[in-house]
Amino acid sequence: MIGAGNAAFCAARTAREKGASVLMLECAPKEENGGNSRYTAGAIRFAYDGVDDIRALCPDLSGDQIVITDFGTYTEEQFFDDMFRVTRFRTDPALCERIVRSSRETMHWMRSKGIRFMPIYGRQAFKVDGRFKFWGGLTLESWGGGPGLVDAYTEIAKASGIEIRYDTRAVKLLTDGHAVTGVKMRHKDQLENISAKPVVVAAGGFQASPEMRTRYLGPGWEMARVRGSRFNTGEGLKMAMEIGAST
Ligand SMILES: Cc1cc2nc3c(=O)[nH]c(=O)nc-3n(C[C@H](O)[C@H](O)[C@H](O)COP(=O)(O)OP(=O)(O)OC[C@H]3O[C@@H](n4cnc5c(N)ncnc54)[C@H](O)[C@@H]3O)c2cc1C
Repeated sequence: MIGAGNAAFCAARTAREKGASVLMLECAPKEENGGNSRYTAGAIRFAYDGVDDIRALCPDLSGDQIVITDFGTYTEEQFFDDMFRVTRFRTDPALCERIVRSSRETMHWMRSKGIRFMPIYGRQAFKVDGRFKFWGGLTLESWGGGPGLVDAYTEIAKASGIEIRYDTRAVKLLTDGHAVTGVKMRHKDQLENISAKPVVVAAGGFQASPEMRTRYLGPGWEMARVRGSRFNTGEGLKMAMEIGAST
């Protein structure tokens, strides 16, 4: 597993559940781990049909909180509409279908692994006639926001026997000329090859690379300030392109 953000942790935990032994490579030091996932609010958009769905995911909600809150609904149809509106109908149909239709079960899967959620009262609700009314379909966040999410994932991964190596950067995908057979990685000054049948590249995007931002987003993007992790320099994408991945 290359990376240790939200995508990598979910893939690692799933692979472990299926019986694989899993090694995660995180190029950041322990105190800066988790990529952009650490920088988020931990807010997660998912489809729900009303307060019962929220209660199922937040069993800590008190009766008093429920009485003063109107969680509304965020149906799959509303989620699709938002995806189409925001992307001007350019969202990938298969991926969009997957993200919307699987959103609720994904939240339950995360919850079953030990991730805890709470309503985003501070940002996503207004007080109307004495009750908190949620808006925008973004209703729950993970406990402790992004840092809480990454810390919880780390505990869950370790408890299930997943090894995480910090300060360890994947630098190349190894192949036999036909299929990927492993990864070349660097820890401090040491290079090491490790073989693995499946290698999952979950190393984030390229926002911390001024060169790639300018190349792919256009002139001026070299000046942009990065709000997220300084470790997402597009290396996962480059490694894949080096062995012929389509852009
Ligand atoms: C400020 C901010 C707020 C956001 N808020 C939200 C929010 O509230 N809700 C939401 O859904 N989304 C939010 N997002 C978007 C969200 O952060 C990303 O969509 C999500 O984190 C992507 O997860 P990921 O696992 O793909 O990548 P990341 O979480 O970025 O993980 C990439 C991982 O790969 C590692 N890595 C990179 N290169 C290498 C290498 N060569 N070798 C080894 N490891 C490597 C990184 O260190 C990191 O561990 C926000 C983004 C930002 C910047």
